[in-house]
Amino acid sequence: MARVAATDYESVPEVAVDVTPQRGTVVLKFGGTSVAGPERLRSVAKRLVAAHEDGNRVVAVLSAMGATTDELVALAHQVSAHPDPRELDMLISVGERISCALAAMAINDLGHRAVSLTGSQAGIVTDTKHGKAKIVDVRAKRIHESLDRDEIVLVAGFQGVSTSQDVTTLGRGGSDTTAVALAAALGAERCEIYTDVEGVFTADPRLVPGARKLHAVSYEEMLELAASGAKVLQLRCVEFARNHDVPLHVRSTFADSDGTWILEEDQRMLEKAMIAGVTHDVDEAVYEVASAEPATLFDALSAAGVNVDTVIQIGEGIVFSAPREDREAAESALSELGASWNEREGLGKVSIVGAGMKSHPGVAAKAFGTLAGIGVDSQFVSTSPIKIAFYVPRDDVERTVQALHKAFELAEQSAERDHG
Ligand code: ASP
Ligand code: MG
Repeated sequence: MARVAATDYESVPEVAVDVTPQRGTVVLKFGGTSVAGPERLRSVAKRLVAAHEDGNRVVAVLSAMGATTDELVALAHQVSAHPDPRELDMLISVGERISCALAAMAINDLGHRAVSLTGSQAGIVTDTKHGKAKIVDVRAKRIHESLDRDEIVLVAGFQGVSTSQDVTTLGRGGSDTTAVALAAALGAERCEIYTDVEGVFTADPRLVPGARKLHAVSYEEMLELAASGAKVLQLRCVEFARNHDVPLHVRSTFADSDGTWILEEDQRMLEKAMIAGVTHDVDEAVYEVASAEPATLFDALSAAGVNVDTVIQIGEGIVFSAPREDREAAESALSELGASWNEREGLGKVSIVGAGMKSHPGVAAKAFGTLAGIGVDSQFVSTSPIKIAFYVPRDDVERTVQALHKAFELAEQSAERDHG
């Protein structure tokens, strides 16, 4: 079936099969706070120029300035109660383009050559799911050509062009994924994620003042941390990094210190501290389904685009959790199935994550003992080889995080994993 676009779309270069990874390529990603305002854009430009002067082939991925994406989403809802998904993507992809164009101007003023590209121009091809598109291909020919001309390449994050030539976005926080996908496709040495925090912490420092910055975590740990509430990186970006073995360095834009490295697991991670951190999540909805055929249930949820997290089967019944933002989709899928279900309100999830759990017995005993010691009743527990997650009353989340952090001595210097 031929599809004709009503307007010209930005065409995607052909797949360049003979592109070989180039040493010395780095991908630097800057989040919304890092580019919020002309002054900050100029400092980003300086950092990129410095990386270029160090002899690197520099690709930068930028987020939209400050709250731009939120503002654009709000604007759409002021105009329309249910914004058309395709048009919403056209609208919200603009923020990243603004940052890139401005940064390119600033770089040119510093006497280096820069070129800004939309996701589409950069060859980021996605599936057709507006608002949460997945990258299916990166056709990096044009980027390579620019790098060969010694240009600094700025790529608009969070967006691509679909296989049916529409502009798509990758889901909130998606610029991280753009950066890692590009790093993988370009064979980059590393992907640096510049953000407004100093790295990945043993717990949210707002809840645990003694929380420490982790020097290194494994991909697996970071996946579990991101999935269980650590907000610092988008989950998909970590999956991508692991699958393509891209070293990630999460660090602060506003400091020169090292941040947290996310790497292949190594012995030092297992020996030094068996627990990497304690996370929490209060943005999940928990559903209890009285009786349903699991295959049919999860089929329906998946078709509705619900991102199911935890699943617990108890006899006939099934308990599952999903992000609160998927609630509408989850509820309509459940109703359509005619399942008898209810939402378990007022729960939050507290998880401990650590690769060392695989080889050190007694972690579960200590964790359950800690909860018992502070009189917190967990309603559901789910585990993976490197995670134990407790669903506890939301009002108990904070003290549960604090107690676990203390019990596993995560504030101690001895828990430091030094990979320097
Ligand atoms: N600007 C987008 C957002 O706010 C994407 C990103 O920043 O990663 O979600
Ligand atoms: Mg982000």
